[in-house]
Amino acid sequence: MSKEQFFDIGVNLTHPSFVKDLDTVIEEALEVGVNRMCVTGSDLEESISAYQLAFSLSDILISTAGIHPHQAKEFSQNYFSEIKDLLKKENVKAIGETGLDFYRNFSTEEQQKKSFEMHIETSIELQKPLFLHVRNAHSTFMEMLEPVKEKLPKTVVHCFTGTEDELMDYIEMDFYIGITGWICDERRGVHLKELINLIPKDKIMIETDAPYLIPRVSQLKNSQRNEPKFLPHVAKEVAQNSKETKESLISSMYMNSLSFFDLD
Ligand SMILES: [Zn+2]
Repeated sequence: MSKEQFFDIGVNLTHPSFVKDLDTVIEEALEVGVNRMCVTGSDLEESISAYQLAFSLSDILISTAGIHPHQAKEFSQNYFSEIKDLLKKENVKAIGETGLDFYRNFSTEEQQKKSFEMHIETSIELQKPLFLHVRNAHSTFMEMLEPVKEKLPKTVVHCFTGTEDELMDYIEMDFYIGITGWICDERRGVHLKELINLIPKDKIMIETDAPYLIPRVSQLKNSQRNEPKFLPHVAKEVAQNSKETKESLISSMYMNSLSFFDLD
């Protein structure tokens, strides 16, 4: 019997909470079939660490390089040119996280827009997949992306937690959709369960966003942090709400991730 395979498209393995036991974290993920992971970068320093980590385990890990909307205040031409250099490396497979987050506004809206604009331009120039984060900023987000729709490379809206209308806009744009353990949360993930079947089968992917967003399932009640080995819980919840069989959905999500990141 072939074992189920999972691809965690968004995991923050450079987070300080993984420093002490990263080897174990990765080993335990492999044991449950999570055999590919994308380590996301949220600023230059983290993008460099993510790249180095991915380079050291290149059969399992890939990385992204970019400036998260929270860090957009760090943006400058020089700073960004170093991000661009990273994007030319073999194991750096997407540009991001980038996007807009008007919920927290750790950087001003103007700073976020400027940084996002440069990421969009660069993704078009390099035709490197775009890894996007959006929160409370849907209309500005669409205003910035829609005019360049034809030129955009493959794009994912990661950690999708939005409304049906927002989802339909992303589907219209041909975006991939990343689903996290948010869907396991009976307090705030209920609407997501109803949206699963609207996502085209070739566009759905899953992620843990570890160490954040521990899936709210009883077995993980005492967990201190989220880990990539918990990804099968997300897959299970997605499958339970899908009209596809679990086997076929899990296989599609894995294949979609390989194709999104241009892996074989
Ligand atoms: Zn994010």
